[in-house]
Amino acid sequence: MASLPSHVIAALGLGAFFYKPGVPKRVWVVGAVCSVIPDIDVIGFRFGIQYGDFWGHRGFTHSLVFAAVLASAVVFLGFRAGLPNISRLSMWTYFFLATASHGLLDAMTDGGLGVAFFAPFDNHRYFLPWTPIRESPIGLGRFFTIRGSAVIRSELLWIWVPAGALVVSALLLRLRRPANHARPNEP
Ligand SMILES: [Zn+2]
Repeated sequence: MASLPSHVIAALGLGAFFYKPGVPKRVWVVGAVCSVIPDIDVIGFRFGIQYGDFWGHRGFTHSLVFAAVLASAVVFLGFRAGLPNISRLSMWTYFFLATASHGLLDAMTDGGLGVAFFAPFDNHRYFLPWTPIRESPIGLGRFFTIRGSAVIRSELLWIWVPAGALVVSALLLRLRRPANHARPNEP
């Protein structure tokens, strides 16, 4: 796993592409929560589920199908009535990408088993060809160790910096786009 704060940062970076003034903040909070939900599978260790199993760590909850199901459930249960300034399709896309980004980042780590991206159709575990992110220990206690600092450095470089770059590029894209409505005059 990459660490929990890094998954949240990645989700917020993606959110920059969906950001518009007036969108309720809870959309970004829900996106951040979606990005950490796949690791709910670690509770399986307590019940004897093996890492490589379908319900094991980085199994089904890290798949693209799970991301689609979670995004659909969240939009249907939480935002069925719609929200101002963001369509339900945009929300679905954001929640899907936020959830799917979790598996993608895990597949860039240098430890554990790979990610079952295509479960339930194919339970093979995949890594990306490039795995620059140091594997984060499971459990916050072990995170703050010597090895933890190496993990933090690699996550800052490969997750936080790119997430910041996403935000900057989203801002630049918005600046280049001509405003399609006049701003109301401030009193
Ligand atoms: Zn994970």
